[in-house]
Amino acid sequence: MLVEPERTAYDLRFRVLRFPVRVHPWFWIGTALMGSRVLDAGPEFFLAWIAVVFVALLVHELGHALAFRWYGSGAHIVLFAFYGLAIPTHEVFGRGRRITISLAGPFAGFLLCGLVYGSNAILGWAGDDAPPLVWYLYRALFLVNLLWGLMNLLPVFPLDGGHVSREVCGWFWGTRGKRVSLRLSFGCALLMVAYSLFCAMDARGAGAGFTTQLPWWFPPGTVFTAILFGYFAYQNYQELGRITWGDTHWDDRLPWER
Ligand SMILES: [Zn+2]
Repeated sequence: MLVEPERTAYDLRFRVLRFPVRVHPWFWIGTALMGSRVLDAGPEFFLAWIAVVFVALLVHELGHALAFRWYGSGAHIVLFAFYGLAIPTHEVFGRGRRITISLAGPFAGFLLCGLVYGSNAILGWAGDDAPPLVWYLYRALFLVNLLWGLMNLLPVFPLDGGHVSREVCGWFWGTRGKRVSLRLSFGCALLMVAYSLFCAMDARGAGAGFTTQLPWWFPPGTVFTAILFGYFAYQNYQELGRITWGDTHWDDRLPWER
């Protein structure tokens, strides 16, 4: 469902840990649009925002890529607007292995979160007397990595959690697992749309200030997440319609026995 974007003449290319990385121009445009409000604080905060999203997305995809390498496959990384991809050179067989690969992305982000938090706890580099930009960098690095990982763990396609859910449902329900996981994904995506719209309206003063009472680390929904999960729900719904009887009921009789 997430396809690799085409190569362009404006791609930024480099290697990290021997993995080829390609940054599509839409990455910069999408990230800039998403952080346009940060621009009010000053251009240096805006640049810090773009750098933080870049690092968060790259570390997440490196987690997947390293897991692919662990299981004997190469991989290359693509960063696009609002998402990244780690594309393997070989298919990896085995549910357990595929689950590990899916989880490796979010957990690489959580690891970075822990490093940022731990280094500040020990060295105090982003304490109260730190310059505002350093304090912003600390908070943004921590939050973006945490939220990106948590969001990706939701059992919604095409997020990592959706892939984990498909494998787990396959374990329990065999050939019907794909349909079960798609229904779960569709339901969760709709719930996320409702939560996001509620938060967005609440933040505009239409609610009881519910979002102001959330702990600072708890992800509030926005118009952006409402659109994103609305799009996922639509994709899931279409895919559910496409699954035919044959997809979920494999007939292993020989042709002349049918
Ligand atoms: Zn991922």
